[in-house]
Parts: sequence; structure tokens; C-alpha cells
Amino acid sequence: MAEGLTAMTKREVAGRFAGLGLGSGRPVIIAGPCSVESEEQILATAHAVKAAGATALRGGAFKPRTSPRSFQGLAEEGLRLLALARAQTGLPVVTEVMDADQIDLVAEYADVLQVGSRNMQNFTLLKQVGRAGKPVMLKRGLSATIEEWLGAAEYITASGNDQVVLCERGIRTFETHTRNTLDLSSAVAARQLSGLPVIVDPSHAAGRCDLIPALSRAALAAGIDGLMIEVHPDPDRALSDAQQQLDFAAFRQLMGDLGLLPAAALESLEACRAEIDRLDEQLVALLVRRTETARQVGRIKAQAGLPVMQEGREHALLDRLAERAGGALPAEELKAIWGAILESSRREQEALRR
Ligand code: PEP
Ligand code: MN
Repeated sequence: MAEGLTAMTKREVAGRFAGLGLGSGRPVIIAGPCSVESEEQILATAHAVKAAGATALRGGAFKPRTSPRSFQGLAEEGLRLLALARAQTGLPVVTEVMDADQIDLVAEYADVLQVGSRNMQNFTLLKQVGRAGKPVMLKRGLSATIEEWLGAAEYITASGNDQVVLCERGIRTFETHTRNTLDLSSAVAARQLSGLPVIVDPSHAAGRCDLIPALSRAALAAGIDGLMIEVHPDPDRALSDAQQQLDFAAFRQLMGDLGLLPAAALESLEACRAEIDRLDEQLVALLVRRTETARQVGRIKAQAGLPVMQEGREHALLDRLAERAGGALPAEELKAIWGAILESSRREQEALRR
């Protein structure tokens, strides 16, 4: 299955999506309205999602709608507005290209070209979109198998562009309670098989706002590289997909729950304290597990007749952590904090020998 793809695109390609934040170790969060509707709407949304920690902006300018009577998008004006939002926020723009004729135009404005579900097997579009020199996000077709999805991706990579991100957005099943069914197992399998980054779009998968938080958590827990989430200033009045767009407050809440809300987004003392309390609870649970593990190390060392203090190991550990913190935590602070943790471990281990 899609052998060329597997051979050609190892996970390291994630580094090539650096502009999108892929490969940074933090999930990419592409957020924005289903459709670009007006300057006010897209600018307000771009600023709100940026403040909440989104890493890219979405918004459709060319919309694939089930009915020709539905809103079809603002076309080039929508692209221009997306570029304006990027200029104001610095967020890269992900937007759909529906037709091979539109590639040059969309590529002029967008940072990532989205190929939508309904076009997943539009082979003319796939071959040409690969030549635009921009990363491509390929959404899974409504009823495409993994093999068909990866085959479609291979059309893009075969034209010399290995910057392909796959997006699972729900498939059609017998279930009618949700718009589609999020197929997380295929998302995980596609990631394993292709080596390409895979993101999940819980908005189109569920078609309902209330399920978005749980599906987002599930996707990230499964090791998925990111999420695409529809966010609108006033979802009830959205010109497309009104039921599945989060308002700003719900998106911010979700980012907080995912641990992705930037500290700068916390505006009151109460909000900061609530976040500190939440983090402290996580830290103490980790410290308890760390202490139990250190005691076990102590038992194993005692049995083997090894000393409690192994300086080389402590230095190596501190160096590794400093690298991991990447300057976000001053080296002295890191040393002081872990100095206390390591000292506590030593005391616990010495106590075992008495
Ligand atoms: C979209 O993301 O704007 C969209 C139309 O999604 P899909 O192609 O998954 O239906
Ligand atoms: Mn939509």
C-alpha cells in the first residue's frame, strides 16, 4: 500500500512544516471559521484564536456546498481577507482550493492548500496541487478507505511535493446522530503507514459543537499531530456549518482543557491562580510517581551494592532537562528545582538503607 509514499516520507518531513508548527512537539491547532464571511468576522476570529494559542488560521473562500443555493464563499475577496488576517496576527493561512484552475490564485495567498473531502480523488487537482510549491492538507474522502486516501496523497508526492498533511474529518456511516463518524483508528493507521503528519477535524466529523472537546482530547491522546477546529464569532449566524462552530469562549475553554492556552491569555489574577492550581495538581501527582520510582531505584541499588549518589547520572539528567526546557526556564532555576528533587530522592534512598 502506497509504498512510494512510505519510502519517501519519513516522519522527519515534519520539520518541513515548521511554519505550521508541525514537528515542534506541540500539536498544531488550525482554527477559524468554516467560511470567510466578512473582514470584521475573519479579523476578529484570527485575533481570538491566536490569543487562545492557535498555530494557524483556517477559513474557506471557495466553498464546496451540497446545495448550489447555499453560500458559495467570497472567492478572491475571501483570500485577500485571509492574507490581511495573517498580516495582523502572523498566523499561517490554510484554505481550500476546489479546482485546478484556482491553484495559482489560492497559492498566491495561502500558506497551506487544502484539498477537501469531495475532491480527494480529483486526480487532475491532486497532480497539479503538488506543483504549487506549498504544503498541501489532504482531507479524507467521505467514504474513502485508507488505501484510497494514501493513494491520493501519493499523487501529490509523486509530483515532487512531499509536504503533505493528512486530515481525518469523519466518514459516512449508518449513524445519523452525528454528521459523520470520526474514524480515529484510520487516522492512527494512516500516520503509521505513511509517515506523514495526520491531523483530525472534529468539527466536520461530529457536526456538533458539544462533541468537539472530547473528540479533540481523544485525537491528541492517540498521538495525532494536530486539530482543525471551526471557530466563529457568532456560530448561530454563520453562513455555513452553523451547528459545528465553536464561539470564542468555547474555543478558549477547549485550549485551556488541552493545556494549550498561552499564559498571556490569562487576564485576571483568578484565572492565573486557577491555572496554577491545575498545574500544581498535575505536578504533585507526577512527583508522587517519581518518588515511588526513586525508592524502587534505591532498593535495586542496595541489592546490587551500588552507591546512592551517582554523579554522572545526575549531570546527564540535568543536561537533558536543560535541553528540553530550551531556554524557557533559566538554567539556574532548573538546577535549583531539580537540585531539590534529586536531594529528596537521595534522602529517600538513604532511608531505605537504615
Ligand atoms: C472544510 O474544511 O472547509 C470542508 C469543506 O471540509 P470537508 O472537505 O472535510 O468537508
Ligand atoms: Mn465547514
